[in-house]
Amino acid sequence: MIKKGLKMIASITGGLILFTAISGIVFVNFSPELGAKPNKKQTEDRAKTSHYKEGKFLNQEPTKTNFSLKDTWNFFKKKMANKAIVEPKNEIEVVKLSKNMFKNTPDSLQRITWLGHSTTLIEIDGKTIITDPMFSSSPSPIPGVVGKRFSKEMPITIEDLPEIDIVLISHDHYDHLDRKTIKELDRKTKKYIMPLGVDAHLTKWGINPNKIEVLDWSQSTLYANIKFSCTPGQHFSGCGLKSCNTLWCSWVIQAPSAKLFFSGDSGYGPHFKTIGKQYGPFDLALIECGQYDESFSQIHMMPEESVQAAIDIKTKLMLPIHWGSFALSLHDWNDPVIRAKKAANSLDLELTTPRIGESIYLNTAKLPKDIWWLN
Ligand SMILES: [Zn+2]
Repeated sequence: MIKKGLKMIASITGGLILFTAISGIVFVNFSPELGAKPNKKQTEDRAKTSHYKEGKFLNQEPTKTNFSLKDTWNFFKKKMANKAIVEPKNEIEVVKLSKNMFKNTPDSLQRITWLGHSTTLIEIDGKTIITDPMFSSSPSPIPGVVGKRFSKEMPITIEDLPEIDIVLISHDHYDHLDRKTIKELDRKTKKYIMPLGVDAHLTKWGINPNKIEVLDWSQSTLYANIKFSCTPGQHFSGCGLKSCNTLWCSWVIQAPSAKLFFSGDSGYGPHFKTIGKQYGPFDLALIECGQYDESFSQIHMMPEESVQAAIDIKTKLMLPIHWGSFALSLHDWNDPVIRAKKAANSLDLELTTPRIGESIYLNTAKLPKDIWWLN
């Protein structure tokens, strides 16, 4: 009897393992959420660049981008023992936007609206740009696995957004490139600009390749009278099993009336000073500030480093992004902005801290500076 019972448990366990393994293989190979492998042309484009070696893109400085099972286990243990308040107690209330605000706007408008995490809507010189659009509630191929958005809603729905001239993408991590968002946004998008290799995902998702332009570090492209330059970041990439087989970058946006910098994700490195020398000064820098940890300090900045990066690129004003929407690391949810504000005060850098959904107007003296994250 006992023998029969053990046999049954063994066959159920075996069946479950087999089912999980088959589901895993099917998911990895067929789930569109996991992006795509590059085609022949895309592989050839990558091979041409000096920072692509043995199937992987490399950072300018030696950087640890491979995380072993041991690293993952150590992070998990740290997470289990973590006492930080990684999510706000109450849901964050966003500033709601209406589609009417985009009607009949003058070309002189210089409005930048933070929509949460690294998504910002930039209206400048009559053109509309959106950075790393991510409107889903969870930055994961399986919803809910990697935490949920701190707010129930986005400040605006994709439907109510205006026509988008440029969707500007920094890299293919889920919190920056979201299939559902891209598919919904596509009908109002005129053009996509992204770093090498990321186009493989979009074309797999059905986006017209003629709407996509890919750039390598130090290349530029012009859209109307706005110049977009692809500049380095110090990070990694990957939304499937392979990491670093697409490029990551930061962006310089040179419009006739203002110059902006969008950091994407990056650790602190000498590339910021180089960007400052080549393209600075800037009127505004959108700089990642959040989701850091000592164990991956080379690929995400501590808040003090984010402020130093802003000083290195020579910006007049910094808007901290990549915080306030998801808990992807182990720090208090509002620690990034508290520390960035302190560092900016001591180094005399002007920081603007809009609520999620609140706009800043570059050509006005009044910038959002409320300390809303303590409420
Ligand atoms: Zn990333």
